[in-house]
Amino acid sequence: MRTRLVAGNWKMNTLADEAIGLAKAIAKSAKAFGKTEVLLCPPFVWLKQVAETIKGSPIRLGAQNMIWEDAGAFTGEISAPMLKSAGCQYVIIGHSERRQFFGETDLTVNMKLHKAIKTGLTPIICLGESLQEREAGQTERVVSTQFANGFKDFGQFERVVIAYEPVWAIGTGKTATASQAQEIHQLLRRLLQEKTAEYAQIRILYGGSVKPDNAAELIGQEDVDGFLVGGASLKAKDFIEIVKATVI
Ligand code: PEP
Repeated sequence: MRTRLVAGNWKMNTLADEAIGLAKAIAKSAKAFGKTEVLLCPPFVWLKQVAETIKGSPIRLGAQNMIWEDAGAFTGEISAPMLKSAGCQYVIIGHSERRQFFGETDLTVNMKLHKAIKTGLTPIICLGESLQEREAGQTERVVSTQFANGFKDFGQFERVVIAYEPVWAIGTGKTATASQAQEIHQLLRRLLQEKTAEYAQIRILYGGSVKPDNAAELIGQEDVDGFLVGGASLKAKDFIEIVKATVI
């Protein structure tokens, strides 16, 4: 049985007090989360404060991005060893907003993936098609290509989490139907099966306008193992309800 995971991607939101307040409210509800693993990914600047706030609770800490180098002249960047030292266990890699606004490609995703693993962080590798690609019937091709390139020369699949995030569903209020999500999660499971005997143990999250009212149906799909939540992760009540929907 795969341990379900619900990750909150706060993106570029919250000031210090809000970040601490949000983390506190979520940590306070941790008893209700059962076996579901809960992860908070605040902006870099609040990692330390959030780490302090969730200390002693089962809530985990992650970052939203990293560079593929350990240290050096890379102004404005944050490295995997820095994230480890700040208390992170996870890092989101290749989020569609990084690909769209900051020129991330499957190649940079691959470089970051290798570095995250080497540093002992669990990468959450994001992939998904645009609306144009879906309407052109290219979803499977796009997702398979992102998978092949993003995981090039990689063998430690049991150490990663994958997030299927259709770009057209992120922050738009449009959610993939449960069957649309399952179809791509199943494709990803098949792609994993070609790579590793451990394919059945690897968690595949769905992301894209997950809300308290659609979480139960989505998590009911065989290959949906949790969620990467953006907007709804900024409201403690909504995020907690989403997590509760995943508790077995
Ligand atoms: C995300 O940021 O990964 C995301 C899925 O955002 P939202 O839930 O707001 O669509």
